[in-house]
Amino acid sequence: MPLSLKTYKDIVGEELIEKIYEEASSLTKTHVEHVNSTFYGGGVAEILNSLTLLMNDVGIKTGWRLLKGTPDFFNVTKKIHNALQGEDIELRDIDKKIYLETNEVNSIIMHIMSANFIIIHDPQPLPLINFYEKKQPWVWRCHIDLSAPNQMLWDYLKPFIEKYDKTIVSMEQYKKQDLQKEQHIIAPSIDPLTTKNKFVPDTEVKKYLSKFGVDLDKPIISQVSRFDKWKDPLGVIKAFEIIKKQVDCKLVLLGSMATDDPEGDIIYNNIMEKVKNNKDIIIINYSDDFLVNCLQRASDVVIQKSLKEGFGLTVTEALWKGTPVVAGNVGGIPLQVIDGKNGYLVNDVKECADRTIKLLKDPKLREEFGTLGTEHVKKNFLITRHLMDYLRLIKGMTQ
Ligand code: UDP
Repeated sequence: MPLSLKTYKDIVGEELIEKIYEEASSLTKTHVEHVNSTFYGGGVAEILNSLTLLMNDVGIKTGWRLLKGTPDFFNVTKKIHNALQGEDIELRDIDKKIYLETNEVNSIIMHIMSANFIIIHDPQPLPLINFYEKKQPWVWRCHIDLSAPNQMLWDYLKPFIEKYDKTIVSMEQYKKQDLQKEQHIIAPSIDPLTTKNKFVPDTEVKKYLSKFGVDLDKPIISQVSRFDKWKDPLGVIKAFEIIKKQVDCKLVLLGSMATDDPEGDIIYNNIMEKVKNNKDIIIINYSDDFLVNCLQRASDVVIQKSLKEGFGLTVTEALWKGTPVVAGNVGGIPLQVIDGKNGYLVNDVKECADRTIKLLKDPKLREEFGTLGTEHVKKNFLITRHLMDYLRLIKGMTQ
């Protein structure tokens, strides 16, 4: 894991690195605390892993606290997550009690008040602010698609959100008209030097994948995602059945469970039932960054057939590796996939299949898309830009 910003010089250039150090130089007395609810599995943990280390490297004392909760708590927060993405829910009094009590208990053991800037990620730790006497800027960083939340849930969460000084969302469409406080946009990013994203030679990719039963004897299409209904793994399987009639290929679905996502097991079992007699569909339930890297590199096309997506880091990860992406036209995906340039945006199973077939049949097109994909990520979605955005935000709110 890269610990120093200097190691990014070869990728993003010396000038940006120097600018970042310069921006950070007036923040060396600042102490920042990030709070979220899982240390692995999912985009938020992925970002915090690199961001918190780099913030320390540039001289800002930065901590990362985890909100601890029981399975009951994570069942409630998963409901909240789903409802923020528009699903109907009934948040019972007992659910609200669990939500608030867990935050209250965590507030006792967290000891974040010596920080002079606090960043709370996503809804799980959102009510923490109720249990402190706030004396520094607090921002709520929401990674979820907020464009059409369930109204009842939104009305319940709004009073918590309005206690914060600012809300940060990933794109313009997620800003809420009915919030009194300022809203700010910071797009997510990937770290190009981690085990998940660093360069890997083809021979090593091939060797590593074969350990997991993925041989490259046929073209590969893949989706890397938590086993979650919003990622539509069953839709990917349906698309594959259509693709397979025209191009002999394999589908790999790689997923793992996040500690704060209780629905994964059910979805996983459902998928396994669907594919049990199909030798060309490989399901891997295993958490391994190097495997993600190798699979995204070896794939001829990466699919991300999400039905809802806050941002979808997996899309940027694949584009970075020069692999074209066919992805759902939802949430933050259109920021990353420029339709017809580095991939295709699709609205249903049939479109997903047709676009994938087109790419599978045309190696030159795949190469063109791949080159543009890498460039797009380099310009917009690397961790160095993300770090700079945070430095500017913190500076603007503390000085
Ligand atoms: N991920 C992983 N292994 C898996 C599935 C997902 O490492 O089996 C990672 C993936 O590479 C990405 C993150 O989890 O870095 C998922 O982030 P994304 O924004 O795509 O979706 P989220 O899970 O946050 O909804």
